Amino acid sequence: MRESFLVFGQPLIEQDEIDEVVDSMHKAWIGTGPKVHQFERDFAAYKGVAHAAAVNSCTAALHLACLTLDLAPGDEVITTAMTFCASVNAIIHAGGTPVLADADPVTLNISAETIAPHIGPRTRAIMVVHYAGRCCDMDPIMELARKHGLIVIEDCAHAIESEYKGRKAGTIGHIGCFSFYATKNIVTGEGGMIISDDKAAIDRCKIMALHGMSADAWARFSDAGYKHYQVVDHGFKYNMMDIQAAMGIHQLRRVEEYWKRRACIWQKYNEGLAGLGMGLPADAEEHTRHAYHLYTIRVSAACCGVERDAMLEALRAHNIGVGVHYLAVPEHPYYRRRFGWDPADTPVATAYGRETVSLPLSPKLSDGDVDDVIEAIRAICTESAR
Ligand SMILES: *Cc1c(COP(=O)(O)O)cnc(C)c1O
Repeated sequence: MRESFLVFGQPLIEQDEIDEVVDSMHKAWIGTGPKVHQFERDFAAYKGVAHAAAVNSCTAALHLACLTLDLAPGDEVITTAMTFCASVNAIIHAGGTPVLADADPVTLNISAETIAPHIGPRTRAIMVVHYAGRCCDMDPIMELARKHGLIVIEDCAHAIESEYKGRKAGTIGHIGCFSFYATKNIVTGEGGMIISDDKAAIDRCKIMALHGMSADAWARFSDAGYKHYQVVDHGFKYNMMDIQAAMGIHQLRRVEEYWKRRACIWQKYNEGLAGLGMGLPADAEEHTRHAYHLYTIRVSAACCGVERDAMLEALRAHNIGVGVHYLAVPEHPYYRRRFGWDPADTPVATAYGRETVSLPLSPKLSDGDVDDVIEAIRAICTESAR
């Protein structure tokens, strides 16, 4: 058994990030400044979009994206039952009513088929989540949205590198939201980005991300001269700091290198875990690029002799850190109480959420770490078969 605990989702931080953060400290410009603006430009260029707004989390990005919908009480936004609570909370914070579509059993994504039955007179938008880095089947979803006049927001927290038929995730719908949280594909500690070709939408997000003020601090306090600001809306405090962007600028330069490493680990898991009876992730669909954010196995007593929660405990006992992505949204008491949701209403997401385990998948893993994970799982399955 390995001696040290293998932390789930630990990022790889390299010397360039460290030097850049130290540079911000020496310059004493630690708030929103030139590095944030550079990170926005770099990210927009990577995605091939006209506009980007850096914020302090993907949760903030999703909230601001939902605010651009100008939701009236009772307006509905359809999202997935297989997501992190932040997707749903953003809709609620923006004054909307979330409506859950079930996931497809193979892709774990919502699809035009699972979304369509939920479209009604109050539906305003669809928030897709590219689960684990696998793109939703966007052509039929965009077609459905056009037919009903709906805006599409892409929660790309898992999907920085994802592509669908040559188009990059986050550029297919109206607005794309990204996360640079510590476990995500590139990291800034906490951080997020909103991208769109709609300049008015991004301008509005930038204003709402900084108190509803008309110009940011860097523009106000730089040597260009003092400029009075005007509060034009009651906004939030969602701006990214230069200290965060300092990390992001260098992480983004290594985004493809890290992606290749995760793709390689993904392949090792596929080979090492074959034949145990557990569910493994489906291969990436043709004409798509998977971002390989999460490697999720599906375990149950029926398929491999081990219940999910027993597998979580056993892996921890083997010094392997694991995650669960996710218990289906209706499993959480708040949503059940407030919206009357029942896990049985989204049976695919619910069943999956009760059987899934996420394995470590980060460029920080050595080949030895990956072997340790595989060996631990094989040992756990063998023990349980005795
Ligand atoms: C991580 C995550 C978020 C929230 O990202 P933060 O940057 O931590 O706010 C939102 N949606 C999904 C699907 C996520 O995985």
